[in-house]
Amino acid sequence: MSSTRTVILGSSFAGLTAALELRKRVDDSHEIVVVDPRAEFTFIPSLIWLPFGLRDAKDVTFPLEPIYRRKNIRFVNDAAARIDIEGRTVTTAGGEELAYDYLFIGTGPRLAFEKIEGLGPEAGHTESVCNLEHAQRAGAAWKEFLKDPGPVVVGTAQGGSCFGASYEFLLNTKHQIKKAGLEDVAPVTFISAEPELGHFGLGGVGNSNALVEKFFGRLDIEGLPNSSIDRVTANEIELASGRKLPFKYSMIVPPFSGVDVIANTPGLANPMGFVPVDEQYRHPDHPEIYAAGVAIAIKPPDETAVPAGVPKTGQMTETMAKVAAHNIAAEINSGKTEALPLDELSAICVLDAGNSGVIFKADNVLARGERGLHPKARTMAGPQAHLAKLAFERVFISSRKRGKIVL
Ligand SMILES: Cc1cc2nc3c(=O)[nH]c(=O)nc-3n(C[C@H](O)[C@H](O)[C@H](O)COP(=O)(O)OP(=O)(O)OC[C@H]3O[C@@H](n4cnc5c(N)ncnc54)[C@H](O)[C@@H]3O)c2cc1C
Repeated sequence: MSSTRTVILGSSFAGLTAALELRKRVDDSHEIVVVDPRAEFTFIPSLIWLPFGLRDAKDVTFPLEPIYRRKNIRFVNDAAARIDIEGRTVTTAGGEELAYDYLFIGTGPRLAFEKIEGLGPEAGHTESVCNLEHAQRAGAAWKEFLKDPGPVVVGTAQGGSCFGASYEFLLNTKHQIKKAGLEDVAPVTFISAEPELGHFGLGGVGNSNALVEKFFGRLDIEGLPNSSIDRVTANEIELASGRKLPFKYSMIVPPFSGVDVIANTPGLANPMGFVPVDEQYRHPDHPEIYAAGVAIAIKPPDETAVPAGVPKTGQMTETMAKVAAHNIAAEINSGKTEALPLDELSAICVLDAGNSGVIFKADNVLARGERGLHPKARTMAGPQAHLAKLAFERVFISSRKRGKIVL
């Protein structure tokens, strides 16, 4: 095919992976342009440690431009503000128009704090660790908490999907409370939209329910699944059940939706702002548009009483991005495309607990029916889980900084 241009929106797990993978597969006559308002990649999985001073920003971020320069990929450090599907053009907030032959969407979630009164660090009373700035604020609030400790509430709100993050933050918080000798004054409660503990928005992974309940019992954490938050005031979380949870420190993962530029483009997204894709991670109505990661629409495998989304982990995101990049390259090079149905996605998830943790591994995490509830699920609890997360962090950051995909 004559020279093409692929525009990639977002440069995190989805976008960076797609850009590097595509560059491996198409020669330099084919232009790749990555657009992201963030100049640095943030290794989001480590943000659970930032509030406790175990990491700082420089440990978990690295600049994107040098990686792209080396790979002959153009990096536009700006947000996409408008997408014209008919005209195949993206316009950035700064007014640059980028025509494309292929568009890849990896813009992740919009953190929809406004859906719950009083939620979130900016206009509300709860902390978040969903991005670097929020994790830094959560760290400043933690320092204040240590001066005047009291009850702690951690969880995931209704409409949230990143359950693993709230469990990890919970277990790390508990670990820090114990280290500081504050267990008597700082009881910890976990609230979640999941119908049961360890459900993760997936119907559970192996024996995850029993494992989480065991952890909670041993650590004396009260778990309140099926929780829906009515509102948050300066020192209390009011649940739809009528229960009021006082807190001195709270971190709640908010509901997720798609980012505005995607949600506001007619014909691109579902009502939540997420992009529908087929088995090739391609938009069903616009074959030149691909998407991966948190930006895509995935129907929850089960109905739950309180709305609970499907987690799209970093590892799932990268798998999807690789398939999408492979398929864009196949279009460009007239090669063979590949398919990976959503219900064949596997997940490896490490829940860190500060000095211990649990590793979950499951194939076909979204499968139901004949294949049942991911029959090949495995779990392993112990200090090796914490070490696995440390190793993953080190390998991921050092290889991606060099523009290499090794995991
Ligand atoms: C605290 C926490 C811990 C986690 N731990 C783990 C873990 O241990 N293991 C794991 O596998 N997963 C983990 N996850 C999940 C993982 O972080 C996500 O799966 C991953 O970040 C999704 O990648 P993404 O590229 O789809 O979206 P994101 O990482 O959210 O990236 C979206 C990118 O799009 C950019 N963007 C947004 N709007 C625009 C726009 N208009 N134009 C251009 N660019 C735009 C953003 O700046 C951002 O760089 C964790 C998540 C959290 C919050």
